[in-house]
Amino acid sequence: MLMRNNIHSSKLVVGQLVAEPGTRMEGRLKVGSMPDGTAVRLPVVLINGRYPGKTLYIQAISDGDELNGIAVIHKVLQTIVPEQLRGKIIAVPLVNVHAFHTKQALNPVDNRKMNRCFPGRRDGTSSERIAYHLFRRAIKQADYCLDLHQGGVHPMIDEVRVRVDEKHTLHGACLELARIFGIGYILNQKGPKGQLAQAAPELGIPTIDPELGGTHGWDAASIEKGVRGVRNVLQHYHFIDGTPQVPEQQIVVKQFVPLLSNEGGFVYYRAKLYDQVAAYQPIADIRDVFGNVRESIRSPVEGIFWAKPIYPMVASGGIIGKIGTPIEYLQ
Ligand SMILES: [Zn+2]
Repeated sequence: MLMRNNIHSSKLVVGQLVAEPGTRMEGRLKVGSMPDGTAVRLPVVLINGRYPGKTLYIQAISDGDELNGIAVIHKVLQTIVPEQLRGKIIAVPLVNVHAFHTKQALNPVDNRKMNRCFPGRRDGTSSERIAYHLFRRAIKQADYCLDLHQGGVHPMIDEVRVRVDEKHTLHGACLELARIFGIGYILNQKGPKGQLAQAAPELGIPTIDPELGGTHGWDAASIEKGVRGVRNVLQHYHFIDGTPQVPEQQIVVKQFVPLLSNEGGFVYYRAKLYDQVAAYQPIADIRDVFGNVRESIRSPVEGIFWAKPIYPMVASGGIIGKIGTPIEYLQ
């Protein structure tokens, strides 16, 4: 067979975990210890393809209440056949174990947001140490990196974020990765320091931050879009066979404009998430506790109705939604 010449002999190694070519292995990477001495170990899946290729790193639950990503990893990995794979996949389905166990976004040990702690510090806080171990042992060896997030438990459209500055040498590669993920909506905005989608590009690794909706628990529609996105990436970069399903035209925005309520009350939306709204279009009415309309909130700009809070009540000065703007098209 033609392919026989192409097989490789390099092992996939993350810490003490090793996968031989053509195999999948599951294990746990020690990243710290609990007060009672129990080891803190992150689950890691290594799939070392039979054939040579690139290395993809994918992680989920960096914020402890963002669960859609782990289902994406489960569903994608069960379709991967190591004997047919070109390249290597390193998957960490649950990064922020401490926050996950308490069903919250932040790591309760240090009250930090994991996605402000990359590339990590060996002698840092709990989150920085976890980031350090992942970055040094796993992420550094990747050619592409996917950090699966969502809008926490708040309703948000399915989108992908590019977090490096437009002047960064890897901006084009990150935007191309976002386009191939193919979810249809992209935020192209330099992110805060410590995001994985900034730290990994500093080492030359194109990285995106897919944001798969926002919900308590799991959202099947967002998970399916995430599965399609990861498979698009695997197909486009030749890990697996198949043709990516990428929309011909995707919407790119650069920032969010918050919609603030002047009156306290209850929010009755007149626009839906994903709606393209015009400047001065009414987005919601605020009714007082008796049900009388006190205010109509209009979008100050043209854009996409991108995100909204989970609860229908608001205090004066509270945010009732975010508009992604300005609208540009990526082909
Ligand atoms: Zn997140």
